[in-house]
Amino acid sequence: MKERLYLFDTTLRDGAQTNGVDFTLSDKLAIAGMLAGLGIDYIEGGYPGANPLDTELFGEPRDVDATLTAFGMTRRPGRSASNDPGLVTLLDAHADAICFVAKSWDYHVRVALETTLEENLAALRDSIRAAKAKGREVLIDCEHFFDGYKANAPYALGCAKAAYGAGARWIVLCDTNGGTLPEEIEQIVAEVVKHIPGDHVGIHVHNDTDNGVANSLAAVRAGARQIQGTLNGLGERCGNANLTSIIPTLMLKSDYAERFETGVTPEKLRTLTHASRILDELLNRAPNRHAPYVGESAFAHKGGIHVSAVQKDPRTYEHVPPEAVGNRRKLLVSDQAGRSNILAELDRIGIAVPKDDPRIARLLDEVKEREAAGYAYEAADASFELLARRMLGNVPQFFDVDSFRVTVERRHNALGDLVTVSEATVKVRIDGQTMLSAGEGNGPVNALDNALRKDLGPYQSYIDDLELVDYKVRILTGGTDAVTRVLIESRDGEGNRWYTIGVSPNIVDASFEALLDSINYKLIRDGATAA
Ligand SMILES: [Zn+2]
Repeated sequence: MKERLYLFDTTLRDGAQTNGVDFTLSDKLAIAGMLAGLGIDYIEGGYPGANPLDTELFGEPRDVDATLTAFGMTRRPGRSASNDPGLVTLLDAHADAICFVAKSWDYHVRVALETTLEENLAALRDSIRAAKAKGREVLIDCEHFFDGYKANAPYALGCAKAAYGAGARWIVLCDTNGGTLPEEIEQIVAEVVKHIPGDHVGIHVHNDTDNGVANSLAAVRAGARQIQGTLNGLGERCGNANLTSIIPTLMLKSDYAERFETGVTPEKLRTLTHASRILDELLNRAPNRHAPYVGESAFAHKGGIHVSAVQKDPRTYEHVPPEAVGNRRKLLVSDQAGRSNILAELDRIGIAVPKDDPRIARLLDEVKEREAAGYAYEAADASFELLARRMLGNVPQFFDVDSFRVTVERRHNALGDLVTVSEATVKVRIDGQTMLSAGEGNGPVNALDNALRKDLGPYQSYIDDLELVDYKVRILTGGTDAVTRVLIESRDGEGNRWYTIGVSPNIVDASFEALLDSINYKLIRDGATAA
C-alpha cells in the first residue's frame, strides 16, 4: 500500500503575488479547471474580501473538480469571530475549504500583530471552530513557522498543536521568507510530526535559496503529507515551490514513486508540459526554455556524440522519458552538428531522406557556413526547417519580395507631442502579379510587418492569426563590420510557437529576413500551395 500525498496549488493566490501577474476571473477559472484536470487535490483560488476579483470568484458556487479553497486571516485580536467583518466574508465564501494564515513566530505576534501570545492562540482556535461550524474543511498556514521555530520552538509548536486540537485538517508549516535549507526543514518537520500526525502536516515553502523543490521533498521525507506550491514556481520574489518539478519527481523517481501516490495519474502527468505552457500563454510570458521536465531544452541534445548516443538509447543522456511529462526530445542543429544531428532533426520534422543522400552533406556544409556568418539554428527551428526543405527542393515559391522601403520620422504631432513614426512600403510579386502595400508602425520592423501582411493575396487567410510575440537583437562583432542577428518568435491562434532568424549588417534587413521565414514557415506548415 502506498501512502497518499496531497497536492495543494496556490498559483491563483500566492502565485498571483508575482510581479507583472494579473489574472482575470476567466483566467482564474481556466487555470482552476486545468489544475483539477491535472489531478491537483486542493486549489486555492484567492482571498475573498481582499479584492473584488476574488470576492466575485467566491461569490457563487464554482464547478471545479477539486477542493476549492479560500484564503484569509484568522479573527482580529480583541474581537469575537462573529464580530469580525473580514472573517464573516471568508466564512460566507462559496468554498469547500478555508486556509487561514496565522502567525507562529512570537516576534511577529508581538511586533506585527501587536497582541499577546495567548490572544494569538485564542484567535486561531476561534477561527478554526467558526469555519468548521460552517462545514468547511480547515487548513492553517503557520506563517514564518521555521524562523519562529528557531526563535521559540515551544511557541511555534504550540500554535501548530492548538490548531490541530481545534480541529484543523491540515497544519501547514510555511517557510515564508524562503531562507531555510533542506536539512533544517527535514529536522524541524521530524520534530513536529512527533506531536501532530504527518498525514495532517503540510509544507509551504518559497524558493529564495533555489531549494523550494528540495525543501518540499525534505518535508515529505520527514513525514509531511501535503505539499503546497504553484505551477511553474510562480510567486513573489523568487517564487513558490514549483509543482511542475515536484509532481514528476514524486511520480518518476523510485524513492518517492515506490512509497507514495498522488491524485495525478500517469495519463494526467502527460498533460503537465501543456499545462505549464498554457499558464505562460495566459500570462503572456515566454516559457522558460530551461525549466526541468517541461522546458523546451529539458530534453534537447546538442553535441554530436550525445545525439548519436541518445538515438541508440535515450537513457544515455536523459533521466526520464520526455513523453512521461508530455515533453519531447529535441536534437539541436548547431555548429557542432554532425550528420547524426541533421538526420535526426530531419526525421523529427518528417522529411524522409536516405542516409547516404549527398544532399545531407551539402545541408551540413550550408549550416556550418551560415553559423560561421552569425546564424544560430539551434534557437531557430523553423528557419532550419525552411533551409532544409529548400535544399532538399520541396519548398514552393509562394511569393517574391521585389523591394521594400522604410522611413523613420520624428516630429511633433497635432497635439504638439514629439512622436516617432515609421512607414513602410513593400512590393510583392505573387503569381506574376505585382502588389504594393503600405503600413505604419511604431518602429521600422513593425511598419514592415504591417505592410507585408496587409495583402498577401491568396495566402492572407493563412497569416491572419500569425502574431510576433518576441523579438531579440544581438550585435555579433564589434567595430565597423558588426553583424546583427535577429531572432523572432511567432505564434498562431492555436498557441503553436516557432522561431526564425535573420542575419545582416543592417538591423532592418535582418529583421525582414526573419519575418519572411516566419511567414513562409507558417504557409508550409499549414499546407498552403503556391498560387
Ligand atoms: Zn507563501
